[in-house]
Amino acid sequence: SVPLSFFGGIGGASKLGVLIKGSNYLETLADVDTVVFDKTGTLTNGTFSVVAVHPEAGYTEQSLLEVAALAESFSDHPIAQSVRAAYQGELDPKRVSDSANDAGHGVTATIDGKHVVVGNAKMLAAAGIDVPNCEVVGTILHVLVDGVYAGHIVIADTVKADAEQTIRDLHAAGVKRTVMLTGDREEVAASVAKQLSLDEFHAQLLPGDKVERVEALLAAESGKGKLAFVGDGINDAPVLTRADVGIAMGAMGSDAAIEAADVVLMDDKPSNISRAIRVARKTMSIVW
Ligand code: ADP
Ligand code: MG
Repeated sequence: SVPLSFFGGIGGASKLGVLIKGSNYLETLADVDTVVFDKTGTLTNGTFSVVAVHPEAGYTEQSLLEVAALAESFSDHPIAQSVRAAYQGELDPKRVSDSANDAGHGVTATIDGKHVVVGNAKMLAAAGIDVPNCEVVGTILHVLVDGVYAGHIVIADTVKADAEQTIRDLHAAGVKRTVMLTGDREEVAASVAKQLSLDEFHAQLLPGDKVERVEALLAAESGKGKLAFVGDGINDAPVLTRADVGIAMGAMGSDAAIEAADVVLMDDKPSNISRAIRVARKTMSIVW
């Protein structure tokens, strides 16, 4: 039988906007000593703004933004939403066919009959193109049109207001290791990790690499310490399932994430993770 205080714990958490999908996850949460975060949309707001546009090969800032926004027409990634928002003109979806997401890389599409690639350096390398080395702190979207480098767009995200305090609270609550995993560039990851005083970060990861990192961290765990992974689940539902406890951002996160997660944060605030751990510990101290 389930002790009555479990219901108190789950109920208390739900008042904070934290949905816990079972009393076993309350137990796991109480023992969390490693918290692994996805970056975009989890520690950062996931609302990018365009900070620079560098056209090449006869493109203008507007025509480069237009081709990128068209290519991003059908992606639900926060990056795609910001590129569409940055382009001021009309976007006619009839000009776009064969659009596809390449997780952790970017998007491809056929626009006005031309093959367009919008993505990071890894994606262009896969297409056999060496991209210029960009010395900026920002996420870079390189644009390729029919194999010709058309330029790049620099976008930047901001850290969530409560992210820094959350990391401090987690450490104060005895969490030993805070880790950020991201598919973004090393420079961007280093800057966010420094701002938030994270213990550790790993950049330029594909969704499969994130699973491997989490497995390595799980293997390194000792005693009863548990690992929580927190993400918005765009491209990383597999990591949510692999962690001891998978925590999803429920408001902006994808349906797949909410499905795969054990705990859902209704308002996407990282500070609710430290609150949920506190509620879980209090509940478990009452139970035992
Ligand atoms: P994170 O790990 O930070 O949550 P993702 O794994 O979703 O990020 O994406 C990793 C990287 O892949 C991004 O930083 C970007 O370079 C590239 N990328 C992903 N989706 C897109 C997209 N829709 N358009 C362009 N680039 C993208
Ligand atoms: Mg993500």
